[in-house]
Amino acid sequence: MTQSGVPPIPLRLGHRPLIAGLVVPWITAHTPDGRYRFGTVDADRAAQALHRRWCQICGQRLQTRFVFAMRDRDLDRSIAPEAAMHPECFHYSITACPMLAGRMDHYRAGGHAEVFAGTGIVLGDPAGRRAGQAAEPWNAVWARDYTVITDPHAHLPAALLLPDQILRVRPIAHPESRQNRQTPHNPTIH
Ligand SMILES: [Zn+2]
Repeated sequence: MTQSGVPPIPLRLGHRPLIAGLVVPWITAHTPDGRYRFGTVDADRAAQALHRRWCQICGQRLQTRFVFAMRDRDLDRSIAPEAAMHPECFHYSITACPMLAGRMDHYRAGGHAEVFAGTGIVLGDPAGRRAGQAAEPWNAVWARDYTVITDPHAHLPAALLLPDQILRVRPIAHPESRQNRQTPHNPTIH
């Protein structure tokens, strides 16, 4: 963390736009006039990232290491609903994203839909982060590859991880264990 409370930005993410010092992920939805909304997902970009093996944060090609953020119930069925990340992009997001960093008890209430009404942008919700839903523990899953399937529950593209493709699974620290290095909570940023 820097003194301003925002995490340092890895070189790979240097080209991405910033809001309040935080990198806007590549899959984040934006309106035609360029307004981004943290926490929204552009469904088309989310699908492209999965199919093309692009990182959902920087939008660049993934090579040999694919890091997925998965909840326990996704892990149980070996299906990641969101595209993978580079290791450095993943480390940045768990520091910068209040949800993954465990700094929010509940998903923020909605309110994005009207911003995108009439823009032609389809908002996706591949991870099922419905507003007001209780937050769940997340895992970091390192994989050597994956297969794109249609998630039988969400009917959206998702990554199926075969047992021999999974290299490592590690829980992302729970809120309590991160309390001491918590930064001032900014309720407007996700
Ligand atoms: Zn990346």
